[in-house]
Amino acid sequence: MHANDMNDQRYDYDVIVIGAGPSGLTTATALARSGVRVLVVEKHRGLSIFPKATGIRPRSMEILRGWGLEAEVRRRSQPNQLGMAISPTLAVPGQVVELGLPTDEVVAAVTPTRLAICGQDQLEQVLHDHLHVRGGTIRFRTEMVGFSQTDDAVCVMLRPRDGQASYQVTAQYLVGADGGRSQVRAGVGIEFEPLGSEGNHLAVLFDADLSAVLPDPPYVLNAVVAPGVEGLFATTGQPTRWIYDMEWHPEAGEQLQDWAAERIIDRLRAASGLPDLNPKIIGVFPWDFGAGIAHGYRRGRVFLVGDAAHRTTPRGATGMNTGIADGHNLGWKLTWVIKGWATDALLDSYQAEREPVGRANAAASLQTMIDRPSGDWQAHDFGVEYASAAIVGGTPLAGHRAPHAWTELRDPRARSSSNGLGDASTGSGRVRRVSTIDLFDGSFTLITGPDGQPWRAAAAELAEAGVPISVLSLGAELADPYGELVSRYQLADRGCVLVRPDGYVTWGCDGVPERAGDRLRDVVRLATGHRVADLVR
Ligand SMILES: Cc1cc2nc3c(=O)[nH]c(=O)nc-3n(C[C@H](O)[C@H](O)[C@H](O)COP(=O)(O)OP(=O)(O)OC[C@H]3O[C@@H](n4cnc5c(N)ncnc54)[C@H](O)[C@@H]3O)c2cc1C
Repeated sequence: MHANDMNDQRYDYDVIVIGAGPSGLTTATALARSGVRVLVVEKHRGLSIFPKATGIRPRSMEILRGWGLEAEVRRRSQPNQLGMAISPTLAVPGQVVELGLPTDEVVAAVTPTRLAICGQDQLEQVLHDHLHVRGGTIRFRTEMVGFSQTDDAVCVMLRPRDGQASYQVTAQYLVGADGGRSQVRAGVGIEFEPLGSEGNHLAVLFDADLSAVLPDPPYVLNAVVAPGVEGLFATTGQPTRWIYDMEWHPEAGEQLQDWAAERIIDRLRAASGLPDLNPKIIGVFPWDFGAGIAHGYRRGRVFLVGDAAHRTTPRGATGMNTGIADGHNLGWKLTWVIKGWATDALLDSYQAEREPVGRANAAASLQTMIDRPSGDWQAHDFGVEYASAAIVGGTPLAGHRAPHAWTELRDPRARSSSNGLGDASTGSGRVRRVSTIDLFDGSFTLITGPDGQPWRAAAAELAEAGVPISVLSLGAELADPYGELVSRYQLADRGCVLVRPDGYVTWGCDGVPERAGDRLRDVVRLATGHRVADLVR
């Protein structure tokens, strides 16, 4: 075992995450899967019942697939048509506009998975259960009421909401996943810049059967525009659970009490065009149709993820998805620093890589779908390009998510099959058809061409020294029967591509230099937060 591959018992936890929303749960899951001791603190008595986000975008599904959670998310999803119907009321025919979300056929060319229409409440449950199985701790009904940090630790004050006394817990790092009004953000003095708002909304969560006035399957969004009932029926991923969203005007004196159950039911009947509708109101949630960005994602040992770092409007379905990608990015970096495989400087790359994405997504969510370029969905999911000190270069792929290519894994022992892909038998033994996307979780992965023996030796040397790195070579573990691997990875016979634990390419090389071992070691050190000056031997 590596000297630092043990948990540091000077701290109660390695990482404390404030907030059990999708961003906090993703961050914690990424940590717990690697054996990091993580505590998630949530002030509510359970997970949120409000299925705010329902579009889990393809890149998020890739992350969930890598953790073996794709099937469970699909089981909790609902078939929907990816469009917005617009009509006077639900009962009156109207027109349909596109939402800019990709069809499954389009997506299949670039990823082994696809979008899911699954309520955020359902996704949170899936993440929560997985986190629990992986040894993460979640403390509900517990509010973070203050914290401090030193050079070595964070000390967090927690107040149980059952009246018991407040107490302190210590950790190496604190992650603020505590949403748009983040107290963690305020506590470290990071400013939040509003980018714009289109007003205040009220979302009504209710159970009712609307199938009499909707196509089967229904559209994801169903706008109604008749005077007096203007609003949007949004799917929640469950067939008889709906959100009806409408504008309201607290700035003009309107109050929540003005929306008593009877008035809401009248409105739902009128808006649906079903006078006998008998909806069960589950909750009414005010929210702001606005976007903004934090001026910094890190202060010392404290990090922001998700809505605490950036807020988008629901338009384009990027808010939760951006938070999931934040947690995935930060999770492996914290793990590697805590385990002693990376330096603290790697953590600076979190902000360098994720802040531009948060800002761009927040700004884009203020544009209407009509203003967006076609193919915009690709930019959100796979067009992200990271530029940081941890992206080393050497190939045009560097800084991009490693491409999806169907390939055959000849030695199934080389990787777990957590994503549920089946084995196929051939005359030469068992092989698995896998996407390259399924190959990256936890360690660095070096993919080499068929004549990349020196790179294999170099990776083996690093692995021997305790660096989590695995190597997959064309002609050894990997075959390329579909011709996708070589072309999409631009893989030369003696070349290699180095992929990070989060599935992003950091470096590539199209030949073998004289001292391949030194070269690979230097590259891995740069990709894990060492400075160029540290490389001088
Ligand atoms: C109507 C609506 C529709 C949306 N649709 C989409 C969509 O289709 N796709 C999409 O990607 N996004 C969508 N979004 C945005 C998405 O819901 C948010 O981006 C997402 O919830 C952010 O997740 P988070 O984990 O960062 O924060 P949150 O979900 O806000 O979670 C923060 C958690 O922190 C807890 N907390 C706060 N302070 C403390 C404290 N001091 N102590 C302990 N716990 C604390 C809170 O109780 C909460 O549970 C939508 C949002 C709305 C309002």
